[in-house]
This record gives sequence, structure tokens and C-alpha cells, in this order.
Amino acid sequence: MRDVIFFERDPYAPIRHAYAIKEVLYYKKSKYQEILVVDTEDFGKLLILDGVVQLDERFEFTYHEFLAHVPLFAHQNPRSVLIIGGGDGGTLREVLKHKCVERVVLVDIDEEVIKVSKRFFPTLSSGFSDSRVIVLNEDGYEFVKKCEAEFDVVIVDSTDPVGFAHALITEDFFRYVFRALKEDGIYVGQTESLYYHLELLKKVQKSLREVFPITDLYAWVVPIYAGYWWSFSVGSKKFNPREVKRKVDVNTKFYSEELHKHCFLPKNFYKKIMSEEFKL
Ligand code: SAM
Repeated sequence: MRDVIFFERDPYAPIRHAYAIKEVLYYKKSKYQEILVVDTEDFGKLLILDGVVQLDERFEFTYHEFLAHVPLFAHQNPRSVLIIGGGDGGTLREVLKHKCVERVVLVDIDEEVIKVSKRFFPTLSSGFSDSRVIVLNEDGYEFVKKCEAEFDVVIVDSTDPVGFAHALITEDFFRYVFRALKEDGIYVGQTESLYYHLELLKKVQKSLREVFPITDLYAWVVPIYAGYWWSFSVGSKKFNPREVKRKVDVNTKFYSEELHKHCFLPKNFYKKIMSEEFKL
């Protein structure tokens, strides 16, 4: 069966990944995007939106652990968390591992993604039944506009910055996020590949610097994302995101206090690749 191949259609990457598939399990055009679930030979099931692979069952932990635990452990007492996107539930699952978290609002524009995840990805979507969770299906940009000093941590777990996801990397959006955060709040968003999307990353970091007093960048290897070396941009009002503020008491495969410190870009290297002259 190794000859049945799914070619990823990622408009945002200069490379195409190919997966040997066993079975197509689901296909539907929702109001917002094409949703496809396939089972593969090597990665378990894949969730694919508009031709772009969002997650695989085998390695999803690495992306979700680093997206969630870095900002949450950089905060002394995160009680209220906002996730924008993340309809598969993987980030939510990790956030809920923090006992101090009392409330999580998850805003994904597309309710179909949540339904599909509940049906095909039970290990990711388990958190949707937790009583601390509120799910809203609306545009995250519009939602955050309405919030003021409500959240300790805001996490953006969105699709690539095209179409309705593009607004989530703009300076306007970061200003709304800043207002939505409490006085010691932290924002983190997935900001694509360090290799392939460096120019976009520079723009995002520049916009964040206009808004937040502390900005930073960490990266981790996500084996299914184009370019592998995936970036996460941080804006913080008070806490240094490089520091772990609480005892790491959650069960993870990779994330640890040691890797928290390790995943941030060394400062001189950060300065070098963020300079206008540096090109890849
Ligand atoms: N980890 C994945 C990745 O980086 O490829 C993202 C997974 S998650 C399924 C992405 C979600 O973001 C999708 O379910 C999509 O509906 C949601 N999304 C994209 N733009 C959004 C927006 N403006 N507001 C709310 N949700 C959005």
C-alpha cells in the first residue's frame, strides 16, 4: 500500500511533503475550509485543512507541548487562558494539565474542525469535556477586540497566515491582545518556519516590539511542518519568558525545565537573524 500517496498542498512552503496513506476517513468542505482526515502508514491519522497538514498523531505532542507549556510556565500563576484557533484540541489538552488554570476560552472560527477532532482524534480532543473550558466559534481577531484585562496567557494556534488567519499576525491584532491580557500577561503565537519564513518572522517580531515591552522567540523541531524548525513568537508584559516560574509538575514527552531554557534562540543569534541585512 506504500504507493498511495497524499501530496500536501501547502501554499506557504517551497516544499511538498508526501505521505503514504492507508485510507481516506473523512472529507468535507466546511463554511471556511476543506477538511480531510486520512490514516497513514507512518504517522497515524492526519488532520488536513485546505490541503495543509495540521497535525499527525505520532508527533503532534512536540508542537502542542512547546506551544502551551513555555508561556504557561513562564507565568507565575496563569488562571485564565485564551486559545485562538486550536480546534483540534491538542493545545487545550496541554493547557489543562496546569492545575492552576481555572478557565480556558477556545475560539476557533470553524466548529466543523472541533467536531471532526472529537470524532477522529480522541487523544487530542479529550479536553473539550473539561468543565473549565468555554468554546466559541467566531473569528479570533473579532473576539479579542472585545476583551480587556481578562487573560493571563493568550495562545494563537492558527493555520498558516493566509485568508482569515492572516489578521492574527498583524500589529493591530497584537494591540488588541495586549489589551486583552492582564498586567503581567503573556502572548505566544506559532509563527512558521525559521528557514522558509524568516522575512515574515522578522515582520512579526518587529510588530510585537511596537506593542510589548518584552518580546522573544523560541523554536522547536516539528517533523511534519515544512522547514521543521518551527518558530513561536512571544510578547510579555512583565515576565521574562526564558525563565520557568513554577515547578514543572505536568506529564510531558519532551517539554521540561531544561528544554524550556534550551529552546529560546541565543540572544546574539537572534539579533543576527533579525537584522535587516541578514537573508537566507
Ligand atoms: N497546529 C496547526 C498548524 O500550525 O498547522 C494549527 C492547528 S488548528 C486545527 C488551526 C485552527 O485555526 C483551525 O481549526 C482554523 O479554523 C483556526 N483559525 C484560523 N484562523 C482563525 C481565526 N481568524 N479565528 C479563529 N480560528 C482561526
